[in-house]
Amino acid sequence: MSTLFVISGPSGAGKSVLIRRILDDLPAIRFSVSSTTRGPRPGETEGIDYHFISREQFQADIEAARFLEHAQYSGNLYGTNRHEIEEAERLGQDLLLDIEVQGARQLQEKGVEAVYIFVAPPSFAELERRLRSRNTEDEVAIQRRLRQSVEDVSHVHRYQFVIVNDNLEEAYSRLRSIFIAERSRRSRMGSTLEPILASFQK
Ligand code: 5GP
Repeated sequence: MSTLFVISGPSGAGKSVLIRRILDDLPAIRFSVSSTTRGPRPGETEGIDYHFISREQFQADIEAARFLEHAQYSGNLYGTNRHEIEEAERLGQDLLLDIEVQGARQLQEKGVEAVYIFVAPPSFAELERRLRSRNTEDEVAIQRRLRQSVEDVSHVHRYQFVIVNDNLEEAYSRLRSIFIAERSRRSRMGSTLEPILASFQK
């Protein structure tokens, strides 16, 4: 059975770098490609980063119950496609969801079993410094992201794991440990354990 890993955290906490790294490093993890009404940024690819769809299509997908959860963030809509879970199950992979706090909350309220991980920056001041040093957004956008970060961290108590991304290597090592530990649960070790146990049968 696939394990769902849900990762949230404010913009600028370093979530994307950590996610890219775990996907490159560990086998059998599928990234859940969400649908969004925002336009692609330079370097983003349809079907890999997101499915970039119109508001009309998004609405139609809500009505057809194609989303496991959906939320509005910074004026755009984002939704997790149910299809992603079915695909992960079919392929025997785990599924990694990069979603914001309202979406994670919806999953929890629906009782969706997942490993909930929050990536936090070491402080508000450091988050501000990182957002400014990116040099990708104007002042209005930076202020909006900072306000949003206050809301984001107020939901941290809903998560089972918190990774403080002060030092990237340390943060990555913690994230990797969480994945490895989850995958070592006895309930997930069936196909590995069976032949071992069988070898002990006289
Ligand atoms: P961005 O526009 O920077 O790619 O994403 C903005 C926020 O939307 C991020 O916090 C990201 O985690 C979140 N997000 C991306 N996909 C989904 C989704 O399917 N559902 C929800 N609830 N949030 C999402």
